[in-house]
Amino acid sequence: MKIALHEKGPVVSRIARGMMRSSEWRLTAAEMRAQIDRSLDLGVTTFDHADIYGDYTCEALFGEALAGMPAARARMQVVTKCGIKPVSGRHPARAVKQYDTSRAHIAASVERSLERLHTDYIDLLLIHRPDPLMDPDEVAAAFSALRDAGKVLFFGVSNFSPSQFELLSSRVPFPLVTNQIECSVLQTKPFEDGTLDQCMRLGVVPMAWSPLGGGSVFDGRTKQILRVRKTLLTLCRALGIDSIEKLALAWLLAHPARIVPVIGTGRMDRVEEAVEALSMELDRAVWFEILRASRGSDVP
Ligand code: NAP
Repeated sequence: MKIALHEKGPVVSRIARGMMRSSEWRLTAAEMRAQIDRSLDLGVTTFDHADIYGDYTCEALFGEALAGMPAARARMQVVTKCGIKPVSGRHPARAVKQYDTSRAHIAASVERSLERLHTDYIDLLLIHRPDPLMDPDEVAAAFSALRDAGKVLFFGVSNFSPSQFELLSSRVPFPLVTNQIECSVLQTKPFEDGTLDQCMRLGVVPMAWSPLGGGSVFDGRTKQILRVRKTLLTLCRALGIDSIEKLALAWLLAHPARIVPVIGTGRMDRVEEAVEALSMELDRAVWFEILRASRGSDVP
């Protein structure tokens, strides 16, 4: 199942694969190729990266696999991000974590991503986090140059507030096609803070990171998580659903903003489970029961 992130944006899979943890999966290049192949066959064709994932190693693991399967590139959409500079052994001169959305950093970061990913183009580039020193005209210039050079096809942001999105949109001469945000049964702020309202108003499809709370929905011990897990388990039993993962994803997919969950699992059986969530329909009462568990109270 596919979805256009915007009428002038890329078509992506309704569920994307997040590669942030891929350096922990300990896959050989052949195993990574097998995962990519199987994902593509399942219709999960969008792969979400960032320059910094795995301390700058995850893009290269993917790129090494991709180098051995050139025909796969045209079947997939590669998303990557830039703009965070963490303290890292790879950058010993950097003493403090910082954001950098300067034109020079965006351009240099994309060059390195292209090299590591073994590709000529990135389908979608996101500014990873809002930078208090962001000059929107400079970002617009960086995006335009990358687009003109054919190095990046589409652009978006991540973790932007509605006003930050509005500001950058007002300067970039083409649409920002997504805002990738944290959203899940454990994180419902975007439902209320205007983020999803803005996406729907602008015809922008949001992507949701940590759609299973980074795994904490399965083993977390906070009051909220215990409450949500218990509700998901009870509903799964009552409705004959075989995993809380599926129900938690179906809950996100049911939102009219047409949220694209970016799942972080390294296991193909769990990717398959996630795909099954696409054919589930939840009735309103079930949806609100999960919202109540997340909030800890009924809606007002
Ligand atoms: P997630 O899907 O919420 O969590 C993935 C974790 O949950 C993995 O450790 C996975 O372990 C575990 N898990 C999944 N299903 C499970 C199950 N049935 N039982 C037990 N554990 C299970 O997503 P995430 O990895 O936190 O984030 C997803 C993607 O979002 C990232 O890869 C990245 O691309 C993106 N992201 C973006 C931002 C941003 O600022 N834009 C921030 C964070 C993440 P297994 O591998 O063992 O299944």
